[in-house]
Formats: sequence, C-alpha cells, structure tokens
Amino acid sequence: MGYAYVYKCQKCGYEEHFNQGHGFLVHPQSVDDYFALKKKLFHYKTHNKIVSLSESHKNLQIKAAFQVYLCYKCKLLYDKVEIKVYDEGKTYHKSSFRCTACNRRLKLTNIHRLNRATCPKCKNKTFRRDSSYRSLWDKKL
Ligand SMILES: [Zn+2]
Ligand SMILES: [Zn+2]
Repeated sequence: MGYAYVYKCQKCGYEEHFNQGHGFLVHPQSVDDYFALKKKLFHYKTHNKIVSLSESHKNLQIKAAFQVYLCYKCKLLYDKVEIKVYDEGKTYHKSSFRCTACNRRLKLTNIHRLNRATCPKCKNKTFRRDSSYRSLWDKKL
C-alpha cells in the first residue's frame, strides 16, 4: 500500500504529489511474476536488464516500490520507482537516479523527516510538506 504526500510552495503556490510505497503493480515480486504481467512496468533499460539477467539466473526477485529521492545539493525532490533485482545471495541490479539540474546521484530520503525542499518551479527553498494532506493512494501501477 502506498501513501501520497503533497508538497506546496509557500511562495508561488506550486504543488506536487509524491508517492511512497507499493502500488497495484509496483511491489515486490518474482521475475517470473513480472514477465507473466506482460507489461513493461519499469524504464526500458531496467526492463532489458531484467530480461538479460533472467537468461542466466533462475529464481530472481524484484524489489519494487515508489520512493522519494532527494538531491542533497539542490534539495530537489523526485518521485521514482526503486528497483532491486536479486536472489538469495546477490544483488544484480539496483536503480540509481541523477538530478536533472546538477547530475548528482540522488539519495533516498525519509519524507517524514524532510519538511522543506526546493520548489522545482521558482527555486526557492519554500517547498513544504502539507502535513494536513496524507492519503492512501491507489495507483494504477
Ligand atoms: Zn541537484
Ligand atoms: Zn515556488
């Protein structure tokens, strides 16, 4: 189950929703289950990686969830689908994302502790979590 959070800019009023957790299709599953869906849920590069890994490894698992990432330099927030492909002993693939503004590697962030970020629109550090709004969300993915 996932949660939706709303961030709102105190200055320009820009609002964005961030999702965290599991969706209807984005949740931990085996690679076999994923292929059975016959849907390319993830980025095509991730999908291709899963296909090629599955040719040489059996019993692979996929950890998948919506996560909120942060660029520690710009303080910009990103909503991404985190993917980890693994089996009992090893992790074969882990998603990593870069900030579109400065190209730094994004880090997973704890949205519960992060109250203020940079507004993607006006670039002021007035992007705040609207704590009155937190809802369960039922995304099609
Ligand atoms: Zn950045
Ligand atoms: Zn703003």
